[in-house]
Amino acid sequence: MKTRREFIKISAVGAGAAAIGLSALNIGGLNPLMAESNERPVNDEEMTTYPTYCEVCFWNCAGWTFVDKKGDIKKITGNKEDPHCNGRLCPRGTGGLGMYNDEDRLKTPLIRDYEKDGTPYFRKASWDEALDLTAKKLQAIADKHGPECVALFNHGSGGKFFGNFLQAFGSPNITAPSFAQCRGPRETAWIATFGEAVGSPEPTDIRDTECLVLIGTHLGENMHNGQVQEMADIVGLGKTIITVDPRLSTVASKSKYWLPIKPATDIALLMAWIHVAIYEDIYNKDYVEKYTFGFDALKEHVKDMTPEWAYGITTIEPSIIRETAREMAKAAPSVIVHPGRHVTWYGDDTQRIRAVAILNALFGSWGNRGGFYLKESIHVPMPKIPAYPTPKKTWRDAFPGQFKLASLALSSGICDATIPTEDRACSFKAWMVSGTNLPLTLPNQKNTLKAIENLEFMVVIDTMPMEITGYADVILPECTYLERYDLLRTSPHREPHIALRMPAVKPKYDTKPAWWIAKQLAEKMGLGAYFPYDDITDLLDWQLKQVGSSLEEMQRLGVKKFPRKNGGLYFRKGEDVEFNTPTGKIELFSNQIGAEGFDPMPVYTPHPEPQQGFYRLIYGRAPMHTFSRTANNHNLWDLKKENAVWINPKVAQLWNLKKDQEIWLKNQDGVVSSFPIKVRITERIRWDSVYMVHGFGHSDKKLQRAYGHGASDSELITKVMIDPIMGGTGMRGNFVTFLTTKPVKEVES
Ligand code: SF4
Repeated sequence: MKTRREFIKISAVGAGAAAIGLSALNIGGLNPLMAESNERPVNDEEMTTYPTYCEVCFWNCAGWTFVDKKGDIKKITGNKEDPHCNGRLCPRGTGGLGMYNDEDRLKTPLIRDYEKDGTPYFRKASWDEALDLTAKKLQAIADKHGPECVALFNHGSGGKFFGNFLQAFGSPNITAPSFAQCRGPRETAWIATFGEAVGSPEPTDIRDTECLVLIGTHLGENMHNGQVQEMADIVGLGKTIITVDPRLSTVASKSKYWLPIKPATDIALLMAWIHVAIYEDIYNKDYVEKYTFGFDALKEHVKDMTPEWAYGITTIEPSIIRETAREMAKAAPSVIVHPGRHVTWYGDDTQRIRAVAILNALFGSWGNRGGFYLKESIHVPMPKIPAYPTPKKTWRDAFPGQFKLASLALSSGICDATIPTEDRACSFKAWMVSGTNLPLTLPNQKNTLKAIENLEFMVVIDTMPMEITGYADVILPECTYLERYDLLRTSPHREPHIALRMPAVKPKYDTKPAWWIAKQLAEKMGLGAYFPYDDITDLLDWQLKQVGSSLEEMQRLGVKKFPRKNGGLYFRKGEDVEFNTPTGKIELFSNQIGAEGFDPMPVYTPHPEPQQGFYRLIYGRAPMHTFSRTANNHNLWDLKKENAVWINPKVAQLWNLKKDQEIWLKNQDGVVSSFPIKVRITERIRWDSVYMVHGFGHSDKKLQRAYGHGASDSELITKVMIDPIMGGTGMRGNFVTFLTTKPVKEVES
């Protein structure tokens, strides 16, 4: 049956129908200079360089774009002054040029339309028409339901401009999946414990650490550039790394200890480590006494959480639990129990990361060399704009009494609240989606599509025809980061600094930068005063002059560092520190969490086990891809075209599976992967789990390279375990079994 929001699979006029065969694109791996072998090599001196910061992942490394005399981009390199990358980009950053060159890019604004028989299609539109329609639709929804019924989902640099637009319009409902689907639990846990979020990049002092503990964190597979570089250095120096993972990840193979833990039992291990630290009297007493609150309660709480107790749960031997706890204590305070990044696993994630935070506090690593440094950033002012209208309701009204400790809006919550229910106080009628492919990002795809079906209007701003664009009413094509200015990067680090992104070339096709799109839309809606500049270069130059620089200087430097104003990188010996918690101390016993009716100290609770013949689905990253957004980038596709499912040899034998055999995965709810996936038989995964890299299995044919390659883990994540403290979506409670023949699709009535 056709629905109003039927996914548009057909190629639209101007939407990127291919004129070039795929083989013609397969031209050169990561080095564009090498790629053009029929041309003479181009010397760096013959090229013009433009500063940028990378948009292939959130780490935003600063670099230089090299453009030859013909105006072609030839390569991208790192900026040596940048603390995020120290002059070295990761493979994805070097291959970022593939985003600019991708012939599947969105090329022109598109508007959903219908044939006489009701078949939907996208027709090419001018910017004026597409923005007029967007403005008209948003205004009509605001008049009928209030502006708060419009939500913005964003990811990437352009989101800030759309956020400014939406708040000026009257809606505070701005969200990014990077909170509830990724790092939200750790930020909530850190705020409850230390009074501040971990933030990005994480202030882990890896270069000076004696002991790095990684729990389900795959540094090196997730290429968080500066962290990976520092980790590589400490591997070379022979420092201790302890990796806890059901899978022998790349970093696990470089570690002194690999603890192949039974999945879903990490809290038990952490509590046993806390037990050993306290009951063997090897915690940092001076630090705990001076800076923490609730030690006695914690000591009593973990009394029975011995390594022997944890052994029965985690399968990690008590002697190993003790030995690794002593390794941490020996290194303290130069020890980092890494807070992780993608930490939404089992729905008790805030409590798990609380246990991580407590362990760091017991060893005194927060604010000490080799633990966590005290980050600092430059405040760059914004020009004065009118006050935003006061919203009458927010996304929180849809969840009365729930998720009070969520510091940011929940993408999954807004998605749920878009599906009307009898008792729903707030529901959403329109979405603006900027740079995030929600069907492959939010768990429970069916739910996401149901929410989209309920929308009165959806505008998608993206560079590529990702799956989300197929459901849009209006598509606004953004130019890539190599073709645009954005706001200054001001993220904190050891040294405060700023980085500039400027265009190296003019936007290809009829694409525009986010700042321009948001400003035009605002002007069409009478909100131009919220964008008080004619061109973004005016804004940037004004901002830079406020901090003692200028656009001209930053165009030359790319990155500028400033002296620290807030003291040293670490606490001084005996320094009095006031933490931003209710007690002013690091809270081992959390008053905030307790006041909301949850356990003030972490507790291990068992999670469901897979039924006979099913295996826990674990997913992760590959170093050459950033989720689904790079799957179609020809440079990176050349390096990895599809994912494989890791299966333990014992399990493979049981199922008679062979290396590279194509199988389909079916989850506990009967959902089968749309595409087959190859089998990888390896001892590197526990028998009770399978593993696959996230971001493959694209179903949108407009992504010509990525379409149909590998399987999508997102599709198989239909069971979600909600973290009651902050609303994060635990996604590792899904189990799969194997189908060796292509399943026959049931026909929907
Ligand atoms: Fe780009 Fe790699 Fe840096 Fe991410 S880590 S911003 S992909 S260079």
